[in-house]
Amino acid sequence: MESANAFQNALKQLARTTEVRATRPETIAHLSRAEREISVSIPVTMDDGTTKIFEGYRVQHSSLRGPYKGGIRFHPDTDINEVRALALWMTIKCAVANIPMGGGKGGITVDPKSLSKHELERLSRGWVKRLYPVLGPERDVPAPDVNTTPEIMSWMADEYEKLTGDTRHATFTGKPLDSGGSEGRVMATGLGGFFVFEALREKIGISTPVRVAVQGMGNVGGAVARVLADHGHTIIAMSDSRGGIFSESGLDVERVEAYKKQHGSLAGFSGAKTITNAELLELACDLLIPAALENQITSENVAHIRAKAILELANGPTTPEADDALFARGIPVVPDILANAGGVIVSTFEWEQNLKEEHWSEADVVKRLQHILAEQSRKVYDRASDLKTDLRRGAFAIALDRLENALCGATW
Ligand code: NAD
Repeated sequence: MESANAFQNALKQLARTTEVRATRPETIAHLSRAEREISVSIPVTMDDGTTKIFEGYRVQHSSLRGPYKGGIRFHPDTDINEVRALALWMTIKCAVANIPMGGGKGGITVDPKSLSKHELERLSRGWVKRLYPVLGPERDVPAPDVNTTPEIMSWMADEYEKLTGDTRHATFTGKPLDSGGSEGRVMATGLGGFFVFEALREKIGISTPVRVAVQGMGNVGGAVARVLADHGHTIIAMSDSRGGIFSESGLDVERVEAYKKQHGSLAGFSGAKTITNAELLELACDLLIPAALENQITSENVAHIRAKAILELANGPTTPEADDALFARGIPVVPDILANAGGVIVSTFEWEQNLKEEHWSEADVVKRLQHILAEQSRKVYDRASDLKTDLRRGAFAIALDRLENALCGATW
């Protein structure tokens, strides 16, 4: 039966890879549970003087290949199961990207839109107050995710520095440039998605220019839409949590983003048809890019998907059951653990620059990012072809090769 529990889906993906790649049982045992899971309660003084308690999490899934690495999500639906799944995917993703990082993830159950800026800052600092003993450049290096911004990262980094006296700025990534951030980090996940698509486009039989539907227009969805439009592709649909818009002849991405910034939603945007998020997913297009949340393409709607290919920039947008149906229909899915790895790759560059007290140019960051993603995309494609399987299992297989190697050298 299909599960809405993201962690169950992540475990299924792991198990399904073992059907095509012989895997040692102890590898699966290691990866099926996190090395450490922490739930904390975070008291926050609200602007009216009352105190509210929020639930926060950090899941440190695997340090086999390096310090735990992964974003922090602020969302009302965030819970330990979601963070667990996201942490496991980070372990796999860092191994697919072949960067020296393990996997972790964090979160707070909160609707950040319901907080004032001061409350949001106190909450962000509160998460660090509870968790700083288990963080650090050699231990665990958090980053932004849904609803967490460079500004939030700078508050967190500042709080960490106050509590520990560690001034290397290498514990949080995704910081603003003037607080030790890296050039190129804001665009990294979207731009990385574009590089992966470019590396695989011909192999998966997609000719250009492409007509693209993007679900979610935050940091990741907005960036990929801009990059694709800049390269002559047509963005026919965009959306946020409240719904989307569609234009047969294409949207002006910058105008859409400016409108959203000014009005808070896309409602009333002129020159385009209003659609729901469900309708966006089912549009006829060359490329569908889910860039919002998990469990968007499921056995419920997979039969109605009309895209020629899917580029997963959100984490976990396709359930394993939907994966099978898409594979059977010959619709390639470029999996999250490859497609959205640009963010963690540039976060790792940021960490390295902080530790070495260097500042790399944007051109240098972009060149290094493209090099890694082009190389790893080719490897994933070849591995999937060799195993006669889909790209997700191909990517998991490569990650298991690398994690199993690390496990062989480990002593307990
Ligand atoms: P964000 O907070 O900047 O934006 C999220 C966007 O999704 C917003 O536009 C929001 O309105 C929209 N959204 C939320 N719920 C929705 C729904 N039900 N339907 C349609 N749209 C919805 O977050 P982000 O950083 O862009 O992250 C988006 C996805 O990309 C997440 O799955 C995240 O885990 C993944 N991701 C992010 C990064 C990163 O560097 N930020 C890296 C890798 C993966």
